Amino acid sequence: MIFRLDYRRYRQPLRTALRTAHGVLAERRGVLVRLEDGTGAAGYGEAAVLPWFGTESADEAAEACAALGGQVGADALAAIPERLRCLRFALQAAAERNGPAPARNHLPVAALLPAGRQALEKIGPLAEAGFRTFKWKVGAGDMGSELGLLDDVCAALPAGAKLRLDANGAWSRRQAERWLERGAERPVEFVEQPVAADARGAEDLLRGLAADFPTPIALDESLAGDADVARWLGNGWPGVFVVKPSLLGDAVAVLERLAAAKAKVVFSSALETAAGARAALRLAFRWAGESDSTASPRARALGFGVWPLFKDARLDGPAAAPFLRVEDVEKINVEAAWNALS
Ligand code: MG
Repeated sequence: MIFRLDYRRYRQPLRTALRTAHGVLAERRGVLVRLEDGTGAAGYGEAAVLPWFGTESADEAAEACAALGGQVGADALAAIPERLRCLRFALQAAAERNGPAPARNHLPVAALLPAGRQALEKIGPLAEAGFRTFKWKVGAGDMGSELGLLDDVCAALPAGAKLRLDANGAWSRRQAERWLERGAERPVEFVEQPVAADARGAEDLLRGLAADFPTPIALDESLAGDADVARWLGNGWPGVFVVKPSLLGDAVAVLERLAAAKAKVVFSSALETAAGARAALRLAFRWAGESDSTASPRARALGFGVWPLFKDARLDGPAAAPFLRVEDVEKINVEAAWNALS
């Protein structure tokens, strides 16, 4: 099949600058792609690049689109080099016409709590709205006061709720051990990336922590691409895999491998616009892996509570809500995002 390829580079301000472990993010850059087939049907995708996760830059993705030209065949799409993994994901999504049926009708979404004491006042209203999984940023301030707040945060949670602690690699081994000890008797679903992915001996350290403590550990920054997922799967990682589909070159194949290994997977946003949001969420709804087992009937909450994100609301994915339904995903107005960038 020959497609007509169009692409639009974007550089868009966020509503509020995000403080991340990698600095302050005030604007988002990326590339939207559109593939139209011979019947006039169009599909969209997004290279939601995050260079600090080791992806290509928006410039590199756009240059590769320019090099492909206006007419591309499936062979040219398959030949995009692996280092342009966000673009590979974008083109895979845009070329898809009839994907597999979703495995679920709805999925819970995790609520994002701000770092520090500010989290406390947010929990009540979010619980009232129906959220039951909460993600708290830790490792952002003084460790003693954060640890001291943990019980207050847990006490503020509604009954049956789960707490995710995301350290973004901020801790040393000793610090990680103290949090993992505390997590054990508390409703902590997992501790995400307790130590930095690029710390010396990080892989052995993470495996050691996973073996020594009952609190599950989730890998996020350690999974910077298809090869990392394959390596941790090969090592028999017992914890959770935080999967950002937008950062995987061949997300479909990676997810098949994870499902076959019965891996614990949490789907997460890479701060996409609506185009990337729909592609990534479709994959999350197709996931029929580990969380469907009778041992763990409750689906893991999606890490997609990031919208509204952009100053231009036409670019946003579905607004954070306690649940997303499959029809919410199909209703995402990708054309409006595309047109907003014209
Ligand atoms: Mg994370």
